[in-house]
Amino acid sequence: MNTLVWFRSDLRVHDNPALHHGLNRDETDENSVAALYIICDEYIKTHPVGPRKLWFTREALLNLQESLADAAIRLDIIRVKKSADISQALLKHCLHHEIDQVNCNAEYPWDELQRDRAARDLCEENNIKFKRYHDRCLIPPGALTTKQGDPYRVFTPFSKAWRQLIDQTFLTVYPKPSRKQSLKVDPETIVNKFSGLSLSEVDDDHWAPSEETALAQLGEFCEAGIEDYHERRDFPAEPGTSCLSPYLSLGLISPKQCFIAAANSVSGHWAEDPGVNTWITELIWREFYMHVAVAFPQVCKHKPMQAYTDKVSWRRDNKVFDAWCEGRTGIPIVDAAMRQLNNTGWMHNRLRMITAMFLSKNLGIDWRWGERYFMEQLVDGEFCANNGGWQWSASTGTDAAPYFRIMNPINQAERFDPKGEFIRRYIPELADVTGKNIYSGEGAKGYRNPIVDVKQSRNEAIERFASVNKKESEQ
Ligand SMILES: Cc1cc2nc3c(=O)[nH]c(=O)nc-3n(C[C@H](O)[C@H](O)[C@H](O)COP(=O)(O)OP(=O)(O)OC[C@H]3O[C@@H](n4cnc5c(N)ncnc54)[C@H](O)[C@@H]3O)c2cc1C
Repeated sequence: MNTLVWFRSDLRVHDNPALHHGLNRDETDENSVAALYIICDEYIKTHPVGPRKLWFTREALLNLQESLADAAIRLDIIRVKKSADISQALLKHCLHHEIDQVNCNAEYPWDELQRDRAARDLCEENNIKFKRYHDRCLIPPGALTTKQGDPYRVFTPFSKAWRQLIDQTFLTVYPKPSRKQSLKVDPETIVNKFSGLSLSEVDDDHWAPSEETALAQLGEFCEAGIEDYHERRDFPAEPGTSCLSPYLSLGLISPKQCFIAAANSVSGHWAEDPGVNTWITELIWREFYMHVAVAFPQVCKHKPMQAYTDKVSWRRDNKVFDAWCEGRTGIPIVDAAMRQLNNTGWMHNRLRMITAMFLSKNLGIDWRWGERYFMEQLVDGEFCANNGGWQWSASTGTDAAPYFRIMNPINQAERFDPKGEFIRRYIPELADVTGKNIYSGEGAKGYRNPIVDVKQSRNEAIERFASVNKKESEQ
């Protein structure tokens, strides 16, 4: 028996079902296990995978190569040009190495599901078994439905059902493979495969792309940060959140490891502790958007969840969009947030909501432009969470903010950056501004005037939505 573990967004050896079941296929030593990762140029361009996430991926693969080598598992890397070439490349590799079973962990967006269907069909036609496991969600898509058997469209009832089911679920963390005589590794085989791709190093202590760092960070957060997470998580100037998103996005850590660590950090039931409960609610949001992507695949095809919002007339103005991208809108909290994204590859959740709402509502720009820009910049870019967050902010998605509830970025800054600390950190032009002007940028030398009038543009956004909403209800 020769088993191949096809790694994708699960770049870890701990708690990896595809790897664990591959290694435990047979009690005897007859089963040999090898690993594979496939890089696809077209996929990187079209989804897109930004330079920081690509750098993070390469570094994580180098780390994975060593961890696998300790268990005498070789990691091969293949690079293909087109998405359609992936299944053929996989088959060729399997035939060459006499593989009789491919194991992988599921990815849920539409393109990834189609890729896996094609790979499975081709493998099975050639008598190679294809096994798919679930590791990206604690409760896999499809396992939760309403009483009528429909997928959930709204978060709160989904979360209630998720909580009930998780309490009845026995969770096991799969151990990392046992040590064997270590293989010699050659990092160049990985580095060379990334040549010609645009990579950008992420210079932040939080994000050293290894499983060990991810686990250590989870441990520290559960020991010291989770307790008052519910009180601090909305203030971008504070280190109030876990910063685990790059690790979760590429699977250097599993949501199950996160859930168990959080739940075990308190003596009573996790839901009774406000910090732990709030943090686990964020993990449930993460799962909700993955369930949504499977149940409503139109969201994976550049379509809004709520069809009527496709008729909203979005602005396609490159000059205005560039000003937003570059943090030059004249609205301090928006500009500081965009500069945080451009400088670090990460943005605080409250700021993702503020900037996304500002782009899609006040500036009236097509939310898909912003969705793509985030994916290009983020080190934690993940389709389901990003699309879900954008559609929520643009009021086009499931559980969307009603279109008339539009965050005022100046009030948001006053509430969530009360001392203007975050704004000053990223906008040197405002360093000397005092009092309430820090939220509006008024009177600051060298800082531009607002690109739009916040109140007027809010009314125009409501009008844009109301007109199509009205037409829809008249039909
Ligand atoms: C417009 C927009 C775009 C976003 N794009 C992404 C993205 O590309 N990748 C991504 O991982 N998250 C995205 N998010 C969700 C969220 O902003 C980040 O997950 C969070 O800021 C990461 O920081 P953290 O790890 O410190 O989170 P914590 O607050 O510590 O939360 C723990 C984990 O829960 C998950 N999570 C938290 N909030 C959300 C949420 N609202 N939706 C889904 N999952 C959540 C993340 O995996 C996160 O790491 C987006 C949100 C919005 C509004």
